[in-house]
Amino acid sequence: MFIFDAIYDIDELARRNMHMHTTFSGCAKPDMILKDIAAEAERCGLIMIALTDHSNLGDKQRIVSKNTPILREQLAEITTNVKVLIGSEISVYGVGKYSETAEFCDTLDYRLYSQNHYHMPFWEHPEDKSPRGYAEHMLAVLEELFSSGRADCVAHPFAGGYIRTLLEEDKRKVPDSITDNELGDIMEKGERARCAWEINVGEFCSLPEFSRRYWNIGREIGVHFNLGTDAHTLKSVDTRQFADKIKEIIK
Ligand SMILES: [Zn+2]
Ligand SMILES: [Zn+2]
Repeated sequence: MFIFDAIYDIDELARRNMHMHTTFSGCAKPDMILKDIAAEAERCGLIMIALTDHSNLGDKQRIVSKNTPILREQLAEITTNVKVLIGSEISVYGVGKYSETAEFCDTLDYRLYSQNHYHMPFWEHPEDKSPRGYAEHMLAVLEELFSSGRADCVAHPFAGGYIRTLLEEDKRKVPDSITDNELGDIMEKGERARCAWEINVGEFCSLPEFSRRYWNIGREIGVHFNLGTDAHTLKSVDTRQFADKIKEIIK
């Protein structure tokens, strides 16, 4: 397990960028090379970064188990003051369905799980395809994930943006359909499993009302939040550029 102290100061949280993709993720830009990412993080005053390339089923070219040793070699060749974690954004693509074995995940420095990449062809969908149906599905997936004890953090929880069958306005209803009680209950279960909750800057800022509830309820419970920009290009490595926007949402 990887966890650091619970922090509720955004500037302090923003000293770590816990979600970024290298060129081993097909969606990342060609500038996302480990040595350049680490140099940019150091320039920005970050103290820790996590490389979280996608782990998808059937992604034969880019499977994380092959890339991890290459990233470790690249890391060994550079000198940096930034703590670099070699992790993965692992798919939990249904209740109890994982893209990697628990044994392999144990070899990673950081295990970030995405529970809502519904645009991927292998993802499990709920029978009830309404916003509430998807919210209940995500809650069930997370409940099982926490009981498995596999996760260090949950990526962009409850965001409905990847559900292509929903209209734009309905995607936003997915997190909004979760009650405060349900949110508190699942966040408490995550905390008991020593799993952090991501402040994914893109999702956090695009869902301000939900994000405020998420922050306030999480803070009340005493959960761990990790901040990540989901960087796909070097320009997004710097977390500090988003700090004021996040503070505006939670004030
Ligand atoms: Zn993701
Ligand atoms: Zn990502």
